[in-house]
Amino acid sequence: MELPKKRKVEERTKDFKEFYLPFPEAKIKAQCARCMDCGVPTCHSGCPLGNLIPDWNDSVYRGQWRRAVEQLHRTNNFPEFTGRLCPAPCEEACVLGINEPPVTIEQIEKEIIEYAFNQGWIVPEPPAQRTGKTVAIVGSGPAGLACAQQLNRAGHTVTVFERDDELGGLLRYGIPDFKMEKWVIDRRLDILIQEGIRFETGIHEGVDITRDDLSKFDAVVLCSGATVLRDLPIPGSDLDGIHFAMDFLTQQNRLVAGKEVDCYGQPVITAKDKHVVVIGGGDTGSYCIGTSHRQGARGVANFELLPKPSTDRPDHQPWPYWPMRLRTSSSHEEGGTRHWQILTKAFVGEAGYVKDVITVDVEFANTDGKGPKMIEKPDSERSWPADLVLLALGFTGPESDTVVAQYELPLTPYGSIQTDGHYMTRVDGIFAAGDSHRGQSLIVWAISEGREAARCVDVYLMGGSDLPTKGEGDLPRV
Ligand SMILES: Cc1cc2nc3c(=O)[nH]c(=O)nc-3n(C[C@H](O)[C@H](O)[C@H](O)COP(=O)(O)OP(=O)(O)OC[C@H]3O[C@@H](n4cnc5c(N)ncnc54)[C@H](O)[C@@H]3O)c2cc1C
Ligand code: SF4
Repeated sequence: MELPKKRKVEERTKDFKEFYLPFPEAKIKAQCARCMDCGVPTCHSGCPLGNLIPDWNDSVYRGQWRRAVEQLHRTNNFPEFTGRLCPAPCEEACVLGINEPPVTIEQIEKEIIEYAFNQGWIVPEPPAQRTGKTVAIVGSGPAGLACAQQLNRAGHTVTVFERDDELGGLLRYGIPDFKMEKWVIDRRLDILIQEGIRFETGIHEGVDITRDDLSKFDAVVLCSGATVLRDLPIPGSDLDGIHFAMDFLTQQNRLVAGKEVDCYGQPVITAKDKHVVVIGGGDTGSYCIGTSHRQGARGVANFELLPKPSTDRPDHQPWPYWPMRLRTSSSHEEGGTRHWQILTKAFVGEAGYVKDVITVDVEFANTDGKGPKMIEKPDSERSWPADLVLLALGFTGPESDTVVAQYELPLTPYGSIQTDGHYMTRVDGIFAAGDSHRGQSLIVWAISEGREAARCVDVYLMGGSDLPTKGEGDLPRV
């Protein structure tokens, strides 16, 4: 298994550019050659899009790049996003992964799409004719964009309403540039605009447009994400210097884009020369670590409540399932310390500004036979210096003061928008997809749900659909 080399830590932490170095074609082909073209390719089902992985591995190995990108686009609208950002559940399901490192599927995906863009093969594909039906999509994250492209290709007239000043959802203002530079989104948006999709930014559904405006469309798809942030209401949480990770990351992304940073009335947040504590051990926490180092933090400590996972697969998550194992991101490689089984109890301040974080150690034990419970370890209280605290605790679900309230759409017990098996909410013609429907998830799932919902909308509008369903559309082998 070989991946491209990364830029040296000392160099890459001085800027916000992507960190992988170019990968020679011979090395990509060598990775594709490792694919065993299994009779039952478990990587297909590992990928939420059902990507036709052995097919494009074979095409690249044979030097048939054009064919490879056609195969890739059959199931995935935006491989340049997933090829950079996907945690690659396909690789955990790769048969080779049983006793060897898996095929480097995500990297191959990125190489195929970048090769195709460089060759000028990715061009707009507007529909041959229009159906006369109109669809409104709320939200321009990966779910909204995938849904829009599919519906537009089916000939419907699609308008995407986005609250932010730029399109892309969390791709634009959540994920840092060092993971994906934003020209990657703009390059794809140019294609979507030329295909005929209409985008309206700065439009807050629920405020600028309401139920009455949306009812003029033949169908509506809510792809508005799961944007309600999980808070940490403990003593001292109102001190200055304690911020949501999303505010920190958004501001840095705006800075890189040369925009105003005091958006949404937030103060400018910086990690420069500060002791930073990041609470939350997931992807968002990891991006806060990488961003803090790039801003010149004095030190970064990262807390996670759960126990440290093993680097091996746990016994209860055998191949080809997605295992909860220890993952070390590029940001973790760049410095800082990681701490597990830590519960944050309070913030202590001076002159209204956070100064220390108080924690206790915890363990998990099944004391009553009803499953593991968290127990605070006696005498384990610790105090950590902190001039900046970033809360990376995830999201609780979609906002409800929007059309969700106006239509009284039912929510699931987890707070997501409830639909039937065809992505339609209780209200006829109103659909939901992506994080707003699924709960906080992944880009690959957002694209998958956007595509699947588009097909359901097409069936709703036209009584049938030629849009593909998951994993459909193998090209014949040559
Ligand atoms: C910091 C961070 C890093 C992440 N990193 C990764 C990663 O590396 N890999 C990965 O696979 N996943 C990652 N994820 C998860 C991934 O980004 C999401 O699962 C995905 O973006 C969901 O797509 P979506 O289209 O459903 O919603 P979003 O991307 O959240 O887009 C929703 C859009 O709807 C807009 N909107 C909301 N309400 C309204 C309204 N009322 N009116 C108009 N517009 C509205 C929002 O402004 C937003 O643009 C990350 C998440 C976060 C928070
Ligand atoms: S989208 Fe993700 S899961 Fe699917 S093939 Fe690409 S890297 Fe693998």
